[in-house]
Amino acid sequence: MRYLSTRGGVAPVSFADAVMMGLATDGGLLLPESIPQVDAATLARWAKLSFRELAVEVMLPYVAGDLSRDQLTALVRRSYAGFVHPEVTPLVNAGGLNILELFHGPTAAFKDVALQFLGNLFELLLERRDGRLNILGATSGDTGSAAIYGVRGQQRIQIFILHPYKRVSPIQELQMTTVLDANVHNIALRGTFDDGQRIVKELFNDLRFKDEYQLGAVNSINWARILAQITYYFYAWGRLSGGDAGRKAIFSVPTGNFGDIFAGYMALRMGLPVERLVLATNRNDILSRFVNTGVYAAGEVHPTLSPSMDIQVSSNFERYLYFLLGEDPALVKALMQQMASSGRLEVSADKLAEMQSLFSAAAVSEEETLGQIRETYQRCGYILDPHTAVGVRAARDLPGTVCLATAHPAKFGDAVRQAIGVAAPPPPSLQGLEGKETRCAVLEASAAAVKSFMQETLAR
Ligand SMILES: *Cc1c(COP(=O)(O)O)cnc(C)c1O
Repeated sequence: MRYLSTRGGVAPVSFADAVMMGLATDGGLLLPESIPQVDAATLARWAKLSFRELAVEVMLPYVAGDLSRDQLTALVRRSYAGFVHPEVTPLVNAGGLNILELFHGPTAAFKDVALQFLGNLFELLLERRDGRLNILGATSGDTGSAAIYGVRGQQRIQIFILHPYKRVSPIQELQMTTVLDANVHNIALRGTFDDGQRIVKELFNDLRFKDEYQLGAVNSINWARILAQITYYFYAWGRLSGGDAGRKAIFSVPTGNFGDIFAGYMALRMGLPVERLVLATNRNDILSRFVNTGVYAAGEVHPTLSPSMDIQVSSNFERYLYFLLGEDPALVKALMQQMASSGRLEVSADKLAEMQSLFSAAAVSEEETLGQIRETYQRCGYILDPHTAVGVRAARDLPGTVCLATAHPAKFGDAVRQAIGVAAPPPPSLQGLEGKETRCAVLEASAAAVKSFMQETLAR
């Protein structure tokens, strides 16, 4: 399979090159040049597979030319060995709700599904090229620990994760700083998450530094992350439909960077029977406003009870825009330039109608989030995390919807306690973190400070 940029400025590259490139070199995002198609007979067959078997079938055409079936099978086996539930991503019934639990990985959030895979994939590709990679990323909490757990202990990768000093939850901080592997470097910045993002951007734009130090990214612009997330849409549908292609599913997805829900869109484009995708945001509603009005305009970021969705400009949105605009890279490029200069873009009325024939969207308030956690708990004793609650609330008028559960409720204990007065019992991965040895450098929030810390660390 070859990959193209949404902005048309990259000669077709292999899957391996697309993974190593991350962001396309023309500033766009990489997409496969064609979408593999799945027919009804295949759907029926796939509905009987385990998650791990299904992951191989779903991903194989996308990695063709770079990975054999055996290599992919081995990667998948390694990537999901650390999930504590035998089904990896079980679909459970909670008082009539269909909850797709994506949080059984090592850091108790859905990002493990993709980052465990990406970490192992990086290792394999770097071995093949005899290469090295220095991952640099900023986190507001979940991505950092999932990325660290994806690559800890690897010989060819060093990972540097910036988080705002004392501004992530205590559990999130411990999840990162208790990892003592020699290749893991936590940096707490005296500043905000935005400072961290700005510094990462600045260092990636320092092309000499980027090349000399082989900087790599792990955010959801990386195609491999989207790819690994397609599997669970097929998995959930198989559990729900028993393989009957006449049965369509609705999915509700708590959304920030449009990565997770874009994986659902890809599944639909492959032939998965999807009736509707519900895009659920918190108060940071740029994406739900876009679906409801056709206008995409950035606002201010507000902190909420679902912090992993406190995002204004969504990095994966451009991938969907490319398809919505009829796969026309010149048009995408023009609109993204307009967005960069004016902070706003708009699509035509017929494109808006096309989008609304598939997507619904809702922005969920803090009170509604807490109310949903309370209501579900009172009805059946099941505890939703605040991100999942946003998705459940957004789909309340669509019975039978599969609601993606993106984090374990014990990870966001304060919000849960605020809603129902008790905290969820922690899974094994979140137990025993307190009192463990930690390692973390505290730096001032400047690109120069981070750069020299990286140079000194790598010189050792
Ligand atoms: C990252 C994250 C999201 C948002 O996912 P996107 O792919 O950015 O839309 C939702 N919930 C949790 C718990 C997350 O960590």
